[in-house]
Amino acid sequence: MDPKQKERDTMVREQLERRGLRNARVLDAMRSVPRHLFVNDNLQKHAYADRPLTIGHYQTISQPYVVALMCDQLELANTDKVLEIGTGSGYAAAVLSQLCERVITIERIPDLAEKARETLAQAGCSNVTVHCGDGTLGHQEDAPFDAILVSAAAPSVPEAYKQQLRAGGRLIIPAGHSRSSQSLYRVRKKSDTEFSTEDLGGVAFVPLIGEKGWQET
Ligand code: SAM
Repeated sequence: MDPKQKERDTMVREQLERRGLRNARVLDAMRSVPRHLFVNDNLQKHAYADRPLTIGHYQTISQPYVVALMCDQLELANTDKVLEIGTGSGYAAAVLSQLCERVITIERIPDLAEKARETLAQAGCSNVTVHCGDGTLGHQEDAPFDAILVSAAAPSVPEAYKQQLRAGGRLIIPAGHSRSSQSLYRVRKKSDTEFSTEDLGGVAFVPLIGEKGWQET
C-alpha cells in the first residue's frame, strides 16, 4: 500500500467529511491523488495538513478542503471537459482529472507550468494538458467547456469564461474587489444568454493577474 494512504484517509475523514462534504466521487479522488508529489521537498511533512502551502513564486497549492469544495460544486460528470485557470502545482488539475474526461489547465508562470507538467506525468494524469499563458482570456481553442474552475481571485468575472461555457455549464470563481479576501461564486449558464450566480461564501486566494484580471504590482 502507498505509505501516504493513511494520511490521505485521515485528511478526507477529518478535513472533508467532518465539514460535511458527502460527494463520493470527490472524496474518492481526494483519497487517491498523491498530494505530496505536488508539494515542495521542504514541506513534505505538511503535505496533508489542513492549509495552503507555498510552491514558490509567491504562489500556493490550495488547502485540500477548498479543492474538494470547488470540485464538488462543479457537479462534474465523467464525460465533462473542464478548463482550470491557475495550474500552480497541478494538484487541483490532478483531482479534476479523476472526475472528468479531459482537463485543460493554464498557468501564467512558466516555471510552475513546466513543473506541474512533470508532476502530473509522474502522477499518471494522462488526460491533463498544461498551457502557459494569461488565463484571464480563457481558452477559445478548446471551448465550449462543461465546467471552468478558476483557482486565483479575479476583481470581477471575466466575460470570456461565461462565453466559453456550454449551455448547462458551471463556473466556480473567487472574485471581489479586495486582493486579500473574496467570495467564491458559482455561475451557471442556463442558456446562451441567461446566467445565474450563487455566493458560496468567503475565501482568500492569490490574485488572478492578467489582461482581464488584476495588474501585476
Ligand atoms: N490550483 C493550484 C494547485 O492546485 O496547486 C493552486 C493555484 S494558486 C492558488 C493560483 C495560481 O494561479 C498561481 O500559480 C498563479 O501563478 C496562477 N495565475 C494567476 N493569474 C493567472 C492567469 N492570468 N493565468 C493563469 N494562471 C494565473
